[in-house]
Amino acid sequence: MLSRARGPGAGAWWQLGGLLLLSLLVAGAVAGLGGASAGSIPLQMTAAPEPGPATIRFELPPATPEAAPWVVWVPRQAGRTMWIEAHGWRSPELSFYAPDPAEGLLPAGYSFELPRRWEGPITATLHPRLAASSAPAVRVLPLDQAARLERTAAVANTALYTGLLMLALMSLSLYAAARDRVFLTLATCTGVLAATLAALNGHLYTVPGLRMLAHLQSAGLWALVFVLLATWVRLIQQFVVADQPGLWVDRAGGVLFWALLAAAAACLVGAGLGVPGWFWHRLSGVAWLLTGVGSLAALVDAGRRRVAMAWLMAALLLVILAIAVLQQFQLLAAGPDPLLMRLFYQLGMVVFLTVSAMGLVQRISEYREQRDRDRLARADTERRMLREAARTDLVNTLQSRLRQVGQEEVAWTGFRVMADQLLPLLPVETLVVVAEGLHGGELLLVDPPAMKDEVAGQLRGQYLSLRRQAAGGIAMQQPVSAAREPCTQAMVPLKMRAPSWGALILRRRGTQGFAPDEMALASEFCRIAQMHVEQAVAAIKLRQSAELDALTGSLNRRSIDQWLTRSFLEADRDGQPLSVLFVDLDRFKAINDRYGHACGDHCLRAVAATLSASLGDGALFGRYGGEEFLAILPGHGGAAARQVGEELRAAVERQTLAWEGHVIRLTVSVGVATRRDGERVPGATIERADKALYASKRAGRNCVHVAPAVFT
Ligand code: GH3
Ligand code: MG
Ligand code: MG
Repeated sequence: MLSRARGPGAGAWWQLGGLLLLSLLVAGAVAGLGGASAGSIPLQMTAAPEPGPATIRFELPPATPEAAPWVVWVPRQAGRTMWIEAHGWRSPELSFYAPDPAEGLLPAGYSFELPRRWEGPITATLHPRLAASSAPAVRVLPLDQAARLERTAAVANTALYTGLLMLALMSLSLYAAARDRVFLTLATCTGVLAATLAALNGHLYTVPGLRMLAHLQSAGLWALVFVLLATWVRLIQQFVVADQPGLWVDRAGGVLFWALLAAAAACLVGAGLGVPGWFWHRLSGVAWLLTGVGSLAALVDAGRRRVAMAWLMAALLLVILAIAVLQQFQLLAAGPDPLLMRLFYQLGMVVFLTVSAMGLVQRISEYREQRDRDRLARADTERRMLREAARTDLVNTLQSRLRQVGQEEVAWTGFRVMADQLLPLLPVETLVVVAEGLHGGELLLVDPPAMKDEVAGQLRGQYLSLRRQAAGGIAMQQPVSAAREPCTQAMVPLKMRAPSWGALILRRRGTQGFAPDEMALASEFCRIAQMHVEQAVAAIKLRQSAELDALTGSLNRRSIDQWLTRSFLEADRDGQPLSVLFVDLDRFKAINDRYGHACGDHCLRAVAATLSASLGDGALFGRYGGEEFLAILPGHGGAAARQVGEELRAAVERQTLAWEGHVIRLTVSVGVATRRDGERVPGATIERADKALYASKRAGRNCVHVAPAVFT
């Protein structure tokens, strides 16, 4: 039996659940960011046309020595190097690609600490200018509040990266377990997403080993975005295609994948050639849109094909896409905080990948179920084929073996063959076939044969109940205890007409018993064996009725004629003597007349039995007609045959028969003839024997005459 194993699937579900929970926590932290800017001071911003600086105006409260210094805080954006000027004071320059180690590992924005003594209205200039839409994101906060904002953002980012790392590791372990390439793609996609997000957030450049990436500047960023989109396309492609290659999604996905990789390569090459940044910006926008809409279409298509989780992923993607479109086209001008937006957006992607992983894990369990079903079906077919072969084998063996045995041995041989064929397929401790009234006889077959006496003893006490169970006609099994050991005993009834009954009894150690298909096999074998035994007995009876005389059970006229022909040919071939005896009852008509025909028949049966018993081995004896019998004596010359004739005559003379209180004595006359050299057919010898018999009758009956070589 196959059981559903708890493979990577079950564990993966827990991990994914944990990831989703983590995502929720991140969402909470991100939402907390909104609260973190509560203490900020309202400000106004006016921007000169690009690429000039922007002017911000705000009013600081009166300065006190114990109050924390004020900070102008601007969210980090790719490519910006920033500083502030006001009232002759200038802040240090903060760079996106070359962050100051003092900013920490995961900075969320640029913090410009204002001089402590400042108060009242301040007009500062921000270099370079920000997009007009970014205005609400610039904040003036007390230093500790800015630090809290940074910390909260750092926690959210840490959670995001950790989530992605976990997802990537889990995908790798799923790949190791399931050997499905799609998990490798998922791991790659997750890794690239982590790198891209880290680059977009500016965190990639704070990691000591990765600082050199900063040299690529925005080209490296765009290249990462294109690679991310390419792995994303590959992931969606492998996810939706599942095991149905050749779909349109498959081909379209392939084209898009290579186009995106080419774009990534072009970015890096283009960086050297001085292709302007706005070109890549627009191109990535188009790529985002194409990838997003294409993925959405593929997922919807997959959902209709009932691919696991496809609908959920389509819905998530729709949300992500909507946010992306709003962001790309800067339609959220007066909308929520860009930092918040960015974190939510990144969180959305993590959730999306997590859900795809769930879908894939679900697919693993579907694969496994399918594989289990296939394996079960295969095992079933194999078992059926094996059983069919065993059945055929049993039928063939029964047919050949039962042809060779006499009527008394048919039943035993038939069930012995069945046991021999059944035991390798159905291992048991003991196998017993018991039957009463099976073709007039009793049957007790035990395997192993050494157990026969023991089993016979045990069964004797059970005969009554066994008989009752067998009469029910239904195979059953029950626990029994044999030799102080728990056993299961199965009983398969033989289909026999009452009062005859029979059963196959199987005993197996332990309490587990017999499986339904084992019981079915045993029933089937019993049915086949019994059917063949009956057919063999019927065939033997038919053969006998064709060869034997119905009244006396000795050979009939037809058989005798056949044996005569065959014996004469053999005697001629071997040059051996051969004699024939005719035996005729004396004055038998009178018996019929006096006591009736039934008495005549009774006498015929009795005399035939006496004659047959008086003949030695090798002699053939049959009823030649009416009350006349014939014996063939191969190897007997005239003298020996006369002696046999004399013995027959004497035996009948000695015999007394009782019929309805009467004592009947009979005699026979015998005529003997011996084959002459050169006689190959029996005709002439039979004729001489008949004449010799006639001579015996004339001589007064109850005597033996041997035919002379030539009658005169
Ligand atoms: P004989 O000594 O001359 O042979 O006298 P017989 O009475 O035996 O004369 P015959 O051989 O002519 O008679 C044969 C009788 O055997 C005739 C018939 O009544 C009887 N007979 C032949 N076949 C059967 C049989 O199958 N059953 C019975 N009951 N009688 C038979
Ligand atoms: Mg007679
Ligand atoms: Mg006669």
